Amino acid sequence: MNTVNDYTIVKMKEQKNIALVAHDNRKEDLINWVKKNKEKIESHFLCGTGTTAKLIADATELPVIAFKSGPLGGDQQIGSRIAEGNIDFMVFFWDPLEAQPHDPDVKALLRIAVLYNIPVANNRSTADFLLSSPLMNCEYERKIIDYSKKISSRVKDYGKDMLDD
Ligand code: PGA
Repeated sequence: MNTVNDYTIVKMKEQKNIALVAHDNRKEDLINWVKKNKEKIESHFLCGTGTTAKLIADATELPVIAFKSGPLGGDQQIGSRIAEGNIDFMVFFWDPLEAQPHDPDVKALLRIAVLYNIPVANNRSTADFLLSSPLMNCEYERKIIDYSKKISSRVKDYGKDMLDD
């Protein structure tokens, strides 16, 4: 990781670490998408939430690292790996028509993906567009806004307010 001005740069390698997640009503669609794109996807490293990962591995015979099931903390595990720089691409087919028991985790995962500036596909057409990008097979410098300056100035401001009181 390099910090250039107000950005931290993370280098994504040619082989991407791709997280695959789908809610129950969207699993079939994701499995079919992976099957259809197996040749393109198999050159990358795959992982996913427990049930999604297992179903995709069974249907495609691709190796997919399985974290815990989403409702049991799998979304949070993926979020923490994004924060650590170990996942750099996500296909997450979430269900727009059904509330989930772990909705706060889903929201947190989507937030962390935006914060760390990773490409995310939430539906099939976006996944098609991303996968057909020439950047999928190149190194790419991902710029992450460096919030540490902002946070340290907040700490200073807060300390000043305390002293003023
Ligand atoms: P699952 O989790 O793959 O274990 O079903 C997906 C999710 O609901 O986040």
